[in-house]
Amino acid sequence: MRPLPHPGVSARESYLACIGKIRDPEKKKRYEAATDFIDNAASRFETAARQLRMDVLIPEEFRPEDAGLEVPLRITSDDLSVKLYKQRMSHKDSPGRVIYDRIRLAAPHGICPLCSVRQVKTLDHYLPRSVYSALSVTPLNLIPACLDCNTVKLDVHPKSEGEQTLHPYFDRVTDVRWLRCEVVEGAPAGVRFFVDEPPEWTASMTQRVRRHFSVFQLAELYAHHAVPEMSSNRSTLQMMKKVKRGEELIRSHLAEQARSALVADLNSWQGALYEALSSSEWYCSGGFESLAN
Ligand SMILES: [Zn+2]
Repeated sequence: MRPLPHPGVSARESYLACIGKIRDPEKKKRYEAATDFIDNAASRFETAARQLRMDVLIPEEFRPEDAGLEVPLRITSDDLSVKLYKQRMSHKDSPGRVIYDRIRLAAPHGICPLCSVRQVKTLDHYLPRSVYSALSVTPLNLIPACLDCNTVKLDVHPKSEGEQTLHPYFDRVTDVRWLRCEVVEGAPAGVRFFVDEPPEWTASMTQRVRRHFSVFQLAELYAHHAVPEMSSNRSTLQMMKKVKRGEELIRSHLAEQARSALVADLNSWQGALYEALSSSEWYCSGGFESLAN
């Protein structure tokens, strides 16, 4: 997970931009009447997010139907989660699209902050708009994401502290090592990625990182990338093995690759991979020969 700065657009600004060009006066009045409701919902979300306790937010309080808004002027959850978000924010040339793009393009190098691998293509609602409709166009609830991360998460939302996935605007987990890998000996050789919690983490922090890892299927994703990477390096290792003290050379070559990847990102799958390979006696002494083509 990669951290991101806050989007720098308030919930009110975003909501007013999205409803800005509604022509039908009755419809416009209904949306305008909900502005404070949206603003209050966003404030409650931000307060909870700063405490990393988004699980305490009650879905009913984020639905206009259940929140006690005056009936004649009341918008519905569908007005917010479908009509407003889909038609007036994410749709090309819609009034809120400039804010949508600003958030989408904020991820460095266009890399998805949730998986740290694939390319950002969309926005993911941290709390799903189908459940928390008042947060449908709230910038702090919108995270740049790749299509896969957006799809696998679906309407998952936390019901306890440990069920919260990591939130790139609020969580900071990049300064300690927590991603590790181990070699699976056999033919073909394989690897397994896992969360190795540092001692300073609380039990709920550990649960959250494991939850993030599992919801976004990161063990499978990283292994999927690691195996072809290992295969592409096999011929280099075969050549190294032929020289005097070849095994030692292989070990230091792999360790150097680990060091270089870990300097760039302490929890990169490449860093974890090369560290595991360089410390596997089995792999360095010839286990790499058993890699699948
Ligand atoms: Zn992703």
